[in-house]
Amino acid sequence: MTTKPPVAVVTGAGRGIGRSIALGLAKANFDVAVNFAHNAEAAADTCEEISRLGRRAVPVRADISDANDRAGLISETENRLGPVTLLVNNAGVAPAIRADVLEATEESFDRLVHTNLKGPYFLTQAVATKMIQWQRAGLIQQPKIVFITSVSAFAPSVNRGDYCVSKAGLAMAAKVFAARLAGDGIGVYEVQPGVIQTDMTEKVREQYDRLIFEGNLLPIKRWGQPEDVAQAVVAVAEGRFAYSTGITIVVDGGFHLRVL
Ligand code: NAP
Repeated sequence: MTTKPPVAVVTGAGRGIGRSIALGLAKANFDVAVNFAHNAEAAADTCEEISRLGRRAVPVRADISDANDRAGLISETENRLGPVTLLVNNAGVAPAIRADVLEATEESFDRLVHTNLKGPYFLTQAVATKMIQWQRAGLIQQPKIVFITSVSAFAPSVNRGDYCVSKAGLAMAAKVFAARLAGDGIGVYEVQPGVIQTDMTEKVREQYDRLIFEGNLLPIKRWGQPEDVAQAVVAVAEGRFAYSTGITIVVDGGFHLRVL
């Protein structure tokens, strides 16, 4: 008898870090629900690539800041791929305009907190509740949840306070769910990227180029790549941190080091 591959949901998996995580998980034998919000073409492309790797993939449109969409993401994944063993909360947005914290709008704050914090928080609540039931029924084994936060969870940027606050909240969400779910056999992990080369950082590419290659921002003097983050998530997914929960895996080129 062949056992079915485990199923992962990766939010925001059409592009950037999420796409790389989805492909890494497919290589690690996961079937993947490829969530997207707007860019259906990118999600279809990620799914095609996963199919080429021999795994099943379905694109699922859902705005994670919307409760109905979150419920749809879970039910569509269960119906089309099966019960979920791994949730990766990757989707996130940067402020449309980087504005000084004394001027930034409530509208931007609400958008960031809804997408980066409230969305993954309640998606995790719903998926974890299901995971407990699926595990009791013997349908999944060793379920796990990953939160992609950011070094902005601890390093303040005065021109995107809303982003920093949303990521700091998300880092605490990872700890809260880790504490709650350990007794149910669900491991929860925070993966904390530094400066990663994606569409999100494209607008500030030249500024970050200078900081990375001419300044002292990073001990490891290169851009982080989506694959750097994906490798950490795959290590979690493969169970390499079985006696850990609530930990932060830092993928930041040494950004966090204070160097004298
Ligand atoms: P990106 O290239 O801008 O991609 C963002 C992804 O999130 C896209 O797939 C997008 O879907 C999806 N998304 C946005 N809003 C969504 C919503 N409401 N519902 C569902 N999906 C949504 O960003 P990235 O750089 O890969 O970032 C991925 C994660 O890593 C984010 O949480 C980000 O904060 C975090 N991070 C990034 C960096 C960095 O330097 N790049 C550093 C630290 C942390 P569509 O394609 O449909 O628009």
